[in-house]
Amino acid sequence: MRLRVLGSNGTYPTPGRPCSGYLVDSGDTVVMLDAGPGTLAALQEAGEVGRLSALVLTHAHPDHCADVFSLYHLMRLGPEPRAGLPTFAPEGLAAAFAQFLRADEDHAFHRVFDWHTVGPGDTVRLGNFEIAFGLAEHQVLTLAVSLVADGKKLVYSADTGPGGDLAALASGAHLLLCEATFQGEQGAAAWPYHLSASAAGALARAAGVGRLLLTHLNPMLDPERSVAEAAAAFAGPVEWVALGLEVQV
Ligand SMILES: [Zn+2]
Ligand SMILES: [Zn+2]
Repeated sequence: MRLRVLGSNGTYPTPGRPCSGYLVDSGDTVVMLDAGPGTLAALQEAGEVGRLSALVLTHAHPDHCADVFSLYHLMRLGPEPRAGLPTFAPEGLAAAFAQFLRADEDHAFHRVFDWHTVGPGDTVRLGNFEIAFGLAEHQVLTLAVSLVADGKKLVYSADTGPGGDLAALASGAHLLLCEATFQGEQGAAAWPYHLSASAAGALARAAGVGRLLLTHLNPMLDPERSVAEAAAAFAGPVEWVALGLEVQV
């Protein structure tokens, strides 16, 4: 199983650093996790638009899904049109996009994407992958995602506070891709719906994961300090991720 980072900024993109988006692939199965602003260009750079097996959207915040509109245009009007991309999202997200586009039932938006509503506790078999969803602790309905293939397990936190299902979902994961929006004493005290780097490290330790990758850092922070704070709470390997990083799980 391989992870490629299409973008990792929390909240808003900055030059050269798109928001959340990841490719996870095993054999011929290529799954895109989230589609934050800037990730569609990175997906094209990776040459993987035509190979995508599925898109998974974790929640309705624009930094995780705004490029769905551009992906729709690309798949409908671009050089390699395609339709029926299996797309897994929490309740209400497809309807929210459709409302924004004024897309009635006959609109091409509903043919370009093949929408599937998923929720906490659901599992999906997709090619080489067994995908499971848990509830994240966030302002809106948000899904943490577990992907298992080739005997390896990768878990993506999406956006979450310290509660919810992430710790259980991440149990024994070979790799935890975990949000670390804040540093120091920010986080739970300042904002209950995100994690600090040290909270991400503590969660990784409690879940017994093999390796921790930090993502969704606030763009104003020094990533190396986030790594140091997470490493103080987690003894395994820790890195922060950005566009272009490729990791074998
Ligand atoms: Zn976010
Ligand atoms: Zn969010």
